[in-house]
Amino acid sequence: MSTQRKTRQRRAIWKAIQAAGRPLSPQEVLTLARAEVPQLGLATVYRSLNALVDGEEIRAVELPGESTRYEPADLAHHHHFICTRCKKAFDMEGCMLKHELTLPPGFKVISHEITLSGTCPDCD
Ligand SMILES: [Zn+2]
Ligand SMILES: [Zn+2]
Repeated sequence: MSTQRKTRQRRAIWKAIQAAGRPLSPQEVLTLARAEVPQLGLATVYRSLNALVDGEEIRAVELPGESTRYEPADLAHHHHFICTRCKKAFDMEGCMLKHELTLPPGFKVISHEITLSGTCPDCD
């Protein structure tokens, strides 16, 4: 594959993730990026996603029992919400845990993850 074509595909994928405003599955990335690169295939999407993760332009979002989603790497700390009906993942601003948690002496938190689940407005 030519470098130019690869660059164009990768850029379309990056743009789709950047514009979505929520974490996307590879299938969702494919659907959105095809608007710009109609001949795009799922294998190329996976390859490009891995390259973009390696380049720290996007990051993988692991949700319990779900396929990996992808979001821009530069987002501030936030949490995720997964709709149990349409399976879309959403960003939830803020952090309810930051000031609420009292740790026993000697414990230091380095990171935490919270995944909320329920129904989104479209599915309610
Ligand atoms: Zn939904
Ligand atoms: Zn948090």
